[in-house]
Amino acid sequence: MIKTLQLRPGRERSARQRHPWLFASAVILPKERIEPGETVRVIDSRGEFVAWGICNPRSKIMLRLLEWDESRPVDMDWWRGMIERSAARRGELSNSADTDAYRLIFAEADRLPGLIADYYAGYIVTQFLTAGALRIKNELVDILAQVFQPKGIYSRADNELLALEGVGDTSGTVYGESPPEDLIVRENGLKYYIDLRSGQKTGFYADQRNNRRITARYARGKRVLDCFCYSGGFTMACLAGGAESVTAADSSREALELLERNIALNGFDPDKVRTVEADIFQLLRGYRDQEEKFDLVILDPPKFAPTKASLARAMRAYKDLNLHGIKALAENGVLATFSCSGGVSAHDLKMALAWAATDAGCEMQIIEYMTQAEDHPLRLAYPESEYLKGIIARKIG
Ligand code: SAH
Repeated sequence: MIKTLQLRPGRERSARQRHPWLFASAVILPKERIEPGETVRVIDSRGEFVAWGICNPRSKIMLRLLEWDESRPVDMDWWRGMIERSAARRGELSNSADTDAYRLIFAEADRLPGLIADYYAGYIVTQFLTAGALRIKNELVDILAQVFQPKGIYSRADNELLALEGVGDTSGTVYGESPPEDLIVRENGLKYYIDLRSGQKTGFYADQRNNRRITARYARGKRVLDCFCYSGGFTMACLAGGAESVTAADSSREALELLERNIALNGFDPDKVRTVEADIFQLLRGYRDQEEKFDLVILDPPKFAPTKASLARAMRAYKDLNLHGIKALAENGVLATFSCSGGVSAHDLKMALAWAATDAGCEMQIIEYMTQAEDHPLRLAYPESEYLKGIIARKIG
């Protein structure tokens, strides 16, 4: 029997506008015990149907809304239908001849809360990020296997996030073959080794696919500095785009080892690439002191502000980083700067860049805005799905 939850008076507004989250303060829990991740029917304070949702009494986000049509209750057929629709929306990518690494399901942004599925050359990597998705993990794996027919599915637990839900998961192969240790994927015609099991994110930053292509247009004949390079997504794109040299820097030795293997894999001249294991903030200060300059500087740091609460501190970090990035630019140099912080808007990133330019005593012009790739869609009813922002700016004096 599906239980009914009532929203407190006045709290149905965002729900009716289809924002998928409701916090504990908006929800009246019934007397019966609700298991973390249980499907519920949600009504407003007048008793009218609002949506079908999933409740987790242990989570601050107590209710996640999935379906606003009362005639479509959320059962396993519903999940299957939504997964099929999400798959159909990736049609262009799944037919692409030069890319086989992309996101199939982007959780709330695809109206599938808590479920991430990434496709990597025949394998799928999943993440179950909410109690609701975890509760039906086996069923969801079966559906993914049927819909996508992958060679194997590997599930990665993100227990830091799951702790917020009061649950835990384990990593491992959940269907078919275990993905090989040195799986190779293709993106924009370039090849990359990826580490699905212990690499960052689910092994690759597919959300930067289009931005790598855009940024590489400014690389021909140039000296490039790829900061926070990870496995070299931007480095490979810039080499393919005709860069004279690339300095690739990251604090992770494993990332740089992966990058070096990727250079060999694509047959690029290793003499064109210098890898540097360093903290970028210190590295850029060193370049300032040595007056070392680059024609194209890429700044793709990790999240500084996961939420709006940490915005002020994050803005100082973005400003500082961009200031030193600008200082490393040669005359007419180009900066490709990114933020993947949900709490930082495109406007915020532009502000940080403007402050940085002022402090650096130079003038910059913005020449392109960038966002996350199309397989990481931005659902308008859920503004939190917009997280990646990028700017290409040129130093003009
Ligand atoms: N540009 C990459 C993705 C970057 S992810 C791509 O296109 O695939 C962020 C990277 O920053 C990670 O590889 C992480 O190891 C690195 N990192 C985090 N903090 C750092 C710091 N202070 N200095 C240098 N690298 C850092």
